[in-house]
Amino acid sequence: MNEKKECIVCRQKRERGIHILNRFLCDDCEKEIIESDSNHILYTYLVWRMRFLIHQDTEKELHG
Ligand SMILES: [Zn+2]
Repeated sequence: MNEKKECIVCRQKRERGIHILNRFLCDDCEKEIIESDSNHILYTYLVWRMRFLIHQDTEKELHG
């Protein structure tokens, strides 16, 4: 059974994708990141976004 998960980049609910640091990244965004490897813009965005999300989780753990 495939469970739809929210992609951390496009925020669409998708079935197919990969998991990075307990986060879900959909196939389309993964492909875009790989293809945009020369400019790193999306990759930089993704890293920034993941840091933000991880920070949010940490806050949640600290404050219940
Ligand atoms: Zn996506």
